[in-house]
Amino acid sequence: MISKKLDPYLIKEDFPILQKKTRNGHPLVYLDNGASSQKPLAVIEATNKYYSSQNANIHRGVYQLSQEATEAYERTRIKASAFFGAQCAKAMIFTRGTTESINLVANSWGRHNLQAGDEILLSVGEHHSNLVPWFQLAKEIGVQIRFLKLKEDTTLDLSELKILLNKKTKLVSITHMSNVTGTIHNYEPVLERARQVGAKFMLDGAQAACHLDLHLKDMDVDFYSFSAHKMLGPTGVGILYGKEEILEEMPPWLGGGDMIETVTLDGFTSANLPAKLEAGTPNIAGVIGFGVAMDYLSKIGFKAIREHEKELLEYALQELIKMPGLNLYGLDDLDGRGAVISFTLEGIHPHDVGSVLDEEGVAIRVGHHCCQPLMQYWQIPGTCRASFYLYNTKEDVDRLVGALDKVRALFRRVVRN
Ligand code: PMP
Repeated sequence: MISKKLDPYLIKEDFPILQKKTRNGHPLVYLDNGASSQKPLAVIEATNKYYSSQNANIHRGVYQLSQEATEAYERTRIKASAFFGAQCAKAMIFTRGTTESINLVANSWGRHNLQAGDEILLSVGEHHSNLVPWFQLAKEIGVQIRFLKLKEDTTLDLSELKILLNKKTKLVSITHMSNVTGTIHNYEPVLERARQVGAKFMLDGAQAACHLDLHLKDMDVDFYSFSAHKMLGPTGVGILYGKEEILEEMPPWLGGGDMIETVTLDGFTSANLPAKLEAGTPNIAGVIGFGVAMDYLSKIGFKAIREHEKELLEYALQELIKMPGLNLYGLDDLDGRGAVISFTLEGIHPHDVGSVLDEEGVAIRVGHHCCQPLMQYWQIPGTCRASFYLYNTKEDVDRLVGALDKVRALFRRVVRN
């Protein structure tokens, strides 16, 4: 991958939405990349092109259009396998996104392998997508869920790892990078312990896959899940990566077209991987668009993206730290942190901060960030979150800081009156 320093201003030009003015006439500053990234013109055009000149269902037709659509879809799987350093293309299962990927593991691997009394280990900092599927499963089959705590610096507290991750633990599932704090978790000691007790190990890569250069095979995880829409791709597309030998043993979760080999009135036999785990007509245009998003990211390179984001993080933190009454959540060490800044302003509700920033054309996320248990753990209602990506500039940070100054001035006046 090329590691030339990236120019966010040039990159910004590739994103039509970033040329937009908000309703008050401000140029849009988009700092909600943790929720979803914007899409470059190349991705938008690829999905348009599919619908205007390539549209046909895949894997079924004997005619040219269908065969071409199938080839484009399967080419993306091969591309994704190389892009993420996977074991093989068959190990890349297309889903609707991280949420569906985790639900697939819970409903297929989980139902097939877990029984009452088994344990699953999560952390208190998980996104609802990596909590609720396990709660649903636990309720149904009596599995016990245990939680790793977080230390004050937002890293995993491993002091009780040996107790929490024991012979009863059958699966560990934790986030690779927190969507609230940006903390990139040092998961290796947990993976090592999981291996010692024979537990499977999954990472929720929704936030990490878009910022880090991943080599899934070398990482040696059993499962890894992520979404295309957070990495310049369309919504409704994601991947569940799994080790081939584990995926081979998993029964289908959803039943229908494409996942079968034969069907009679007595039942069915499953297709081979990856079709076995991809029932029904998928988001073909979205998958093809995701391929173009990967091309775009490859051209710039994760090394350059990471360097740029670290520069932005450092600049933003340096400015925010000076602001009276602003509390920051997350690591000081930028090597252990992705491009996310969570903060609160004393005496001002995050929703009020978000609304004033919106008036200034600055889009951030406020609230619990789909991590209600983490907010309960910290005993706060929510945070404000600014999350950056390759097209954000120092000027965007300046606009954020300027808008926050306005919030503080406005609320000081409200309190005084
Ligand atoms: N896990 C994490 C850490 C996330 O940040 C998100 C998205 N906010 C998800 C899971 C769910 O991703 P999706 O909505 O794309 O399925």
